[in-house]
Amino acid sequence: DERDAVEEVRPQAPVKPMTATEVKVNVSIPEAAERAAATGADGVGLLRMEHMILSTGKTPEKYINDHGEDAYIEEIVQGIQGVADEFYPRPVRVRTLDAPTDEFRQLEGGDDEPNEHNPMLGYRGIRRSLDRPDVFVHELEAFRRLYGMGYDNVEVMFPLVNDVEDVIRARNMLEEVGIDPEKRSWGVMVETPASALCVEQMADAGIDFASFGTNDLTQYTLAVDRNNGQVADRFDELHPAVLELIGQTIATCREHDVATSICGQAGSKPQMVKFLVNEGVSSISANIDAVRDVQHEVKRVEQKLVLDTVR
Ligand code: PEP
Ligand code: MG
Repeated sequence: DERDAVEEVRPQAPVKPMTATEVKVNVSIPEAAERAAATGADGVGLLRMEHMILSTGKTPEKYINDHGEDAYIEEIVQGIQGVADEFYPRPVRVRTLDAPTDEFRQLEGGDDEPNEHNPMLGYRGIRRSLDRPDVFVHELEAFRRLYGMGYDNVEVMFPLVNDVEDVIRARNMLEEVGIDPEKRSWGVMVETPASALCVEQMADAGIDFASFGTNDLTQYTLAVDRNNGQVADRFDELHPAVLELIGQTIATCREHDVATSICGQAGSKPQMVKFLVNEGVSSISANIDAVRDVQHEVKRVEQKLVLDTVR
C-alpha cells in the first residue's frame, strides 16, 4: 500500500529512550510535520488549526462566503491529513480553531470582527465556536471526513473550555456531525483556572484526555498578559499556584482514567518535565527542537522514581 511504500524510503528515527511517560511533539504548521515525525516522538500533542485558516488571509466567515463550505472543510482536511500521514499510526491531537479577534481583524473580512478591549479574555476558542455553530460544524465535518478516510489516529481537542457545560455542548456538536464520542479520542485543554477546578465533571462527561495549555493557564492564573513585555518577568509557568492547579488536575484525572498532557511551552522545560513526571502525567508534548532533551529528562526522572520506590 502507498503508506508502506513511503515508509521504506524515509530515514529511520533515532533510537529513543523507552519511557512510561509518552513524549510527543507540538506542530504549529503542517509544513513542519516531516521534521517533527523524524524526532521519534510518540505522536503530536498539539496541532493548531489556526495556521490552516489564517494562512488563507481570510476569516473563516469570509472564506466560506467566497469559496463555499466544502472548500473550507477541505483546507482543514488537507492540513491535518499531511500531519496524520507523517505520524500514522502515532496519534495526532488536533485543536479546533483558537485565534483571538485581534488576529482575525487583520485578515480579509476582519472588519466584521468585534473590536474587543481584552481579546485574550474575549471571543476566542470554544466560546467563539459554540457561538457560531454554523462555522464550527465545518471544522468538525473535517474530522468526520478524516475518520471516513481511515485516519483513526486523529484526536479532537477543544481549547479554552471553562466547565462541563462547554464540554457537553462541544460533545453534542461532535455527535451532530456523526462522530461517535465513545469511539473517538477527544478531550480538552486545561488553560483557565476554572477548567482545572471543574475537570472532575468533565471526566464524567466523557473526555479521554486533558492537556495543560500552560501559556494561557499561567496568564490567567497570575493575571499576567503573556504578550506584555512590561510584566514578562512575572510570567512564571512554575509559579506555585500554577503547579498546584496542574497537580490537582493530574490527581483527579488519574482517579477517573483521564489521560493528562501538557502542550504549552513549559513542556519543553526540564523543571516542568520533572514536576509532571513526578505527579504522574501521561504524556508531555515539546517543541521539535526540545523533544530529544525531554525524552532524556523523562527517562532520568522515571529512573529516579523507580529507585526511590525500591530503596
Ligand atoms: C497554551 O495556552 O499553552 C497553548 C498551547 O495554546 P496557545 O499557545 O495556542 O494559546
Ligand atoms: Mg492557549
